[in-house]
Amino acid sequence: MNWAFRIETIEGELHRDFLRMAYQIGEDNSQDPVTHTGAIIVAQDFMNVVGKAANHFPPGFDIPEGLESETARKARLEAIIHAEPSAVHDAARHSGGTNNATMYMPWAPCYPCSKVIADSGITMLVMHKQLLLMTSDKTWTAPEYKMERAFDTLKDAGVRVCMYDGKIGGVKHLYKGEVWEP
Ligand SMILES: [Zn+2]
Repeated sequence: MNWAFRIETIEGELHRDFLRMAYQIGEDNSQDPVTHTGAIIVAQDFMNVVGKAANHFPPGFDIPEGLESETARKARLEAIIHAEPSAVHDAARHSGGTNNATMYMPWAPCYPCSKVIADSGITMLVMHKQLLLMTSDKTWTAPEYKMERAFDTLKDAGVRVCMYDGKIGGVKHLYKGEVWEP
């Protein structure tokens, strides 16, 4: 996976703790039965969380039954609102603002989400290396995600893209139907 070498590694308990918070938001609030994702947005001072969200469905959406069927999977993937744009919406709704803010999102953003991040004025993204390493090449290049293109989009927009390398601790995470301990 040569992409990993293109991403700057970042250290520090501050970043680890915000990543834990992002994981926890996903665990507590996600409506996706297969993969929980959470994102938080932290103001430029690294003190205040101005937005937070998990992946979820639009209000009033009936979550399809039968996880394994292709129809249910498609309906779910099509309707789900990813955590990254939803965290931006949360910051907008509650007037925290996203300009010059940092987003903590353990997983890699997809291409559509990268455009929202770049457009919102967020200037830094922190991911978790261990979760990135669990991402298969198939997912990485899937047409609905295009993660490589997402990174290019963020870099072209001047967003600093980083990953924290190490144990987060104190949280569990559902990824592709399996629980692990980041
Ligand atoms: Zn996305």
